[in-house]
Amino acid sequence: MSDIRVRFAPSPTGYLHVGGARTAIFNFLFARASGGKFLLRIEDTDPVRSRGELAEVILDGLRWLGIESDEPVVYQSDHHERFRGVAEELIRRGAAYYDFTTPEELEAMRRESQARKEPRCRVRGDVHKARAEASQRLARGDAYAVRVSASVEGVKWNDLVHGPIKFDGAEVEDFVLLRSDGTPTYHLSVVCDDHDMGITHVLRGDDHISNTPKQIILYRAMGWEVPQFGHVPLILGPDKQRLSKRTGATSVGEFTDRGFLPQALFNFLSLLGWSPGSGDREIFSVGELKHVFSLGGIQAKSAVFDTAKLEWMNGEHIRLLSDEEAIDYLIAHSGEAPATREQLRAFWPLMKPRIRMPRDLFTDHAYLFTDPVEYDSAGAAKHFPDGKMPELLREYRFDLDNAASFDPEPLEKHLRGWCESHGLSAGKLIHPIRLALTGKTVSPGLFELMNVLGRETVLRRLEKAINMFARP
Ligand code: GLU
Repeated sequence: MSDIRVRFAPSPTGYLHVGGARTAIFNFLFARASGGKFLLRIEDTDPVRSRGELAEVILDGLRWLGIESDEPVVYQSDHHERFRGVAEELIRRGAAYYDFTTPEELEAMRRESQARKEPRCRVRGDVHKARAEASQRLARGDAYAVRVSASVEGVKWNDLVHGPIKFDGAEVEDFVLLRSDGTPTYHLSVVCDDHDMGITHVLRGDDHISNTPKQIILYRAMGWEVPQFGHVPLILGPDKQRLSKRTGATSVGEFTDRGFLPQALFNFLSLLGWSPGSGDREIFSVGELKHVFSLGGIQAKSAVFDTAKLEWMNGEHIRLLSDEEAIDYLIAHSGEAPATREQLRAFWPLMKPRIRMPRDLFTDHAYLFTDPVEYDSAGAAKHFPDGKMPELLREYRFDLDNAASFDPEPLEKHLRGWCESHGLSAGKLIHPIRLALTGKTVSPGLFELMNVLGRETVLRRLEKAINMFARP
């Protein structure tokens, strides 16, 4: 056991994004690798954008990935009183002040700042004036926000991912802690909760870097120990822009629905921006990752989300399942396909080395379950150019019906012998037979395929193609 305590703190304003899931995974693995605790906190203080059902979806997505909190899940909205208390304490300490600026005045300040072509409007109140006015205006019932007085020299920290980061005092505005409706802002609630939960390391996305100086100011003003911060680079899409819906799936639920194995998505996300350091091994079980993960392996460069690689990894993880687990998984993702457990058991040895996604099996290899209804037209033109091939196949089929064994080796021997005695190369027959059995020009090895389809199906499909391609 160590004292390390980390957390993943999603806002329930959207689904669980793969970027968020990756942040959760890094925190979870860090906790496991260091013998610390991993905690979950739902940041639901935004009354307008937060939705209870989204919190459930997020927790379900994490659970699907095998990520659960080591302590009861914390809901930030339960702590409003505490946040207000801390804001008042900060006022008492002279680190924050009542700000009676009206929305109209703020808007005017923003416009002036724009006119001066400042990159951002920096709100900075006069703390002394605010304090002098405060009791009178509070008594009058004027609306106010509470702002922190951010007049500091500058803030720096040694980022766990990026190394030293420094913000000038001028870059940090007097930011709001309590809005005029009394609700706490993200900065206030995140700092209070991280402190109260004893968080030692805050690992989160790069998009939070500009929030960190503000939060460090709050820790210092309260005299609280500042946790260590690490900011993980964003995940980019194939267009090298921030991963977005435009270029593919972004929510964990979409990957679940598409039939990915959770351990494959976990493995894939863990390697997006983290590397185990030695060798080029890429396939890890969750158990292995819990041992080998280290903060030092997090890279400062953004990683690109490569769906083809994820699909490859899914195949690798399917191959790590026991045969019965694989069959259960395939059955669960067979959708409308008329696939029985017995069929899957029979076909599994043939498909196991090839499969990436369950849908491959039920779409690309649908011929395993149903007779082909159409035949590749280029293949048909090439392999059945005239009435001769159906005649040959009819003869071959007749002999096949009497073949002693339907095991791959004897089947191959039988076909090669048959071709030789008819003065044909084996290829001459293999391609039309494949087309007849699958409707396609490519398939797994023909003799293994004939073996798993079985005598009855092979004979039926050959007959169907012979009739179809025979010229009148
Ligand atoms: N709730 C914040 C978010 O979803 C995370 C805050 C944090 O990690 O500090 O982006």
